[in-house]
Amino acid sequence: MKLKEKLSSLTDKKIGLLATNYYNLETLHGVLGAAQHSGDPIILQLTQSSIDYMGLDSAVALGREGLKQFGVEGWIHLDHGSSVELAQRCLDAGFDSVMIDGSELPFGENMKLTQEVVKRAASYGAHVEAELGFVAKLGQSHAHSGFTQPHEARQFVEETGVDALAISIGTAHGFYKEEPKLQIDLLQAIVAEVQDATFVLHGSSGVPESQLRAAIQNGICKVNLATEIKNIFMKTLQDILTQNEEIDLRKVFPKATNAVTELVKGKLDIVNNR
Ligand SMILES: [Zn+2]
Repeated sequence: MKLKEKLSSLTDKKIGLLATNYYNLETLHGVLGAAQHSGDPIILQLTQSSIDYMGLDSAVALGREGLKQFGVEGWIHLDHGSSVELAQRCLDAGFDSVMIDGSELPFGENMKLTQEVVKRAASYGAHVEAELGFVAKLGQSHAHSGFTQPHEARQFVEETGVDALAISIGTAHGFYKEEPKLQIDLLQAIVAEVQDATFVLHGSSGVPESQLRAAIQNGICKVNLATEIKNIFMKTLQDILTQNEEIDLRKVFPKATNAVTELVKGKLDIVNNR
């Protein structure tokens, strides 16, 4: 199924779709192990850093083969694409979906950038996500966030024709120093105002379960998860390596991969409303 149809049918059922980043074979297999276990669909995301790290074609091939190998329904998505050129490279490489992130640009420029990517993606039948409002990036002050305004969201979606919109309702990337407080009223107002787009929550790592569930019940569908995956993978490895002289990495990595699987199983239960 096309990602756009999947997201809108899940939104109708008040069920989310988890979008997880992968960084190497081990984190990919960790995520896919969880999706296979519960039989849930999943979005596999790559940022520019992960693309640079693995190489574009290798990264896509790894994701596609992984989906086949684990028998999971899934889509490959560019996370936080910063330019038309990068989005174009990903479309050429066979991505199902691309995000163009102009959230730090003025409204009009964000709209123009998004329009260009929507135009290019159309000939590939690819899905496009944009961001309006601002979700603080890693290392940026959370005070820098700017909530999405419902009337702007409406105009943005109408004039760009974008499929999915990442909105700012109180999350931030990375871990939180204080518990986040999602603005569910604002989410409801955005959902009431905007037709023909599905909604994306960035920065879900560390958001309490009850708030994540409330966001999905009120119209969020795609839920992005990255920081917690990196964190549990590396923390598990660090623990093993301080106690162990093992040099066969094939005996060491599976424990970290399994830790990712356990984490993602829990997130899939929340996102799929179980
Ligand atoms: Zn994000």
